[in-house]
Amino acid sequence: MNANLYALFAEHFPTDLSRCCIETHDARYYSWLDIEHASAKLANLLISLDLKPGARIAVQVEKSPEALILYLATLRAGYVFLPLNTAYQHTEISYFIQDAAPEVVVCSPQNFGWVSQIAFQTGSQHVFTLDAPAQGNNCGSLLDRAIPMSDQFVTVQSQANDLAAILYTSGTTGRSKGAMLSHGNLASNAKVLKEAWAWQDGDVLLHALPLFHVHGLFVASHGALLNGSKMIFLPKFDADQVLHYLPQSTVMMGVPTYYVRLLQDQRLHQTLCTKLRLFISGSAPLLMDTFHEFKQRTGHTILERYGMSETTMLVSNPYHRERKAGTVGLPLPDVQVRVMNSQGKICEINEVGDIQVKGPNVFQGYWRMPEKTAEEFTDDGFFRTGDVGKFDHDGYLSIVGRSKDLIISGGYNVYPKEIESVIDDMAEVVESAVIGLTHADFGEAVCAVIVLRTATTLDSATVVTRLKSQIANFKVPKQIFFVSELPRNTMGKVQKNLLRQQFQN
Ligand code: ATP
Ligand code: MG
Repeated sequence: MNANLYALFAEHFPTDLSRCCIETHDARYYSWLDIEHASAKLANLLISLDLKPGARIAVQVEKSPEALILYLATLRAGYVFLPLNTAYQHTEISYFIQDAAPEVVVCSPQNFGWVSQIAFQTGSQHVFTLDAPAQGNNCGSLLDRAIPMSDQFVTVQSQANDLAAILYTSGTTGRSKGAMLSHGNLASNAKVLKEAWAWQDGDVLLHALPLFHVHGLFVASHGALLNGSKMIFLPKFDADQVLHYLPQSTVMMGVPTYYVRLLQDQRLHQTLCTKLRLFISGSAPLLMDTFHEFKQRTGHTILERYGMSETTMLVSNPYHRERKAGTVGLPLPDVQVRVMNSQGKICEINEVGDIQVKGPNVFQGYWRMPEKTAEEFTDDGFFRTGDVGKFDHDGYLSIVGRSKDLIISGGYNVYPKEIESVIDDMAEVVESAVIGLTHADFGEAVCAVIVLRTATTLDSATVVTRLKSQIANFKVPKQIFFVSELPRNTMGKVQKNLLRQQFQN
């Protein structure tokens, strides 16, 4: 049997390959046969470059069906796909290319000049644009070069633990690390999610997520590919476009920000969502308000799930049973999830501790960081997620935060989420972030950064007075800052490291 992930997808393509696999916002249609042929041409081109086994193909391009086809071609040819956030600039790209040492770099036409310079300096043999020609350079794009190639390709034989991709983490808590994921890791998760979310005939996925992150590339695309389902591909989240395509879609996946933005739009209404069977949220915590308001406006209960680059999906609210607001649900089949206290014992129900996981989905280690990899695994083979959480009496997991965001103030552990929840309940508040700032007496001082609703006022003293009646004194922020919005990265994650930098002095 071939453990190549593409071979698994191909088994599930519809029998009628002329059916639509991808429809774009600008009315381009790609059949399953187009996907098969185009990925074969690109795979033949990659093979013709005579790359070393395990070669990395680094790709920093805008989202398009061609970018997804390049991912599939890389799988078929047995190389390692390495997508990069399109927001990354010179310093970041330099770091990633030096770190990953890709043999092939694919970049956007406007960046070709400086990216190729960095790439050649670090030993990459090949730099291409994907489709349009590079500015000021007449060497053809990857797609141009693939035109004369054969549209037939026998997907290479892969073993389950051969690498399929290196996915750099979002860098929310520090420098991004390359998570090495194998064909087996990705296949096991895709199969589990197909069952868990009840993918079915006739599903149409509204795909507005980027392709450089686990959410859009793996969770969303793999779901559709493994179910032979059509994807509606939007280049990015745009409320107009999403509202336009909702009536034709049955599944939508998004980060919490997407749902917040949809709710801000008066046009969001139940009548647009009659075909939809599932809205999924992840990558960052979904606010309770968003969960409840969305239910009210659309009649749909958002299904929140939890995962990370190193493991893909771990825990999900159930499809058929209760989806509990503020929780990420139950461990997925095949995934072991445990919460451990500081004494190294499994936590009681509702006791907060470190989330550790084990399963066929857990990655092969951090790229070129064997020590870091060893540190993050326990002696009995569990991966330390770096997230802190608790199980309730029904086995539902809640994420309380990240261990790196835990504040130790005057010797007491303070979990930011607990304080954020109380602040967020105040009528004037949209949202908040609680951080620890270095403090001479306390080690760290609890501080809150608050976003107020428009046309409301609230001062620090009032916040403090209200908090004092609700939480222990050592948890009450020593300082409060008001901002117009919290800094977020493309995946909607609050960047607490930036807040700590900004307010340290
Ligand atoms: P880095 O590891 O570089 O600091 P990162 O952890 O943000 O960045 P990702 O792998 O993209 O990089 O994100 C995984 C993290 O996202 C999880 O560890 C968790 O903290 C958070 N996350 C994902 N889904 C949820 C969710 N539903 N609720 C709360 N947090 C979530
Ligand atoms: Mg992480």
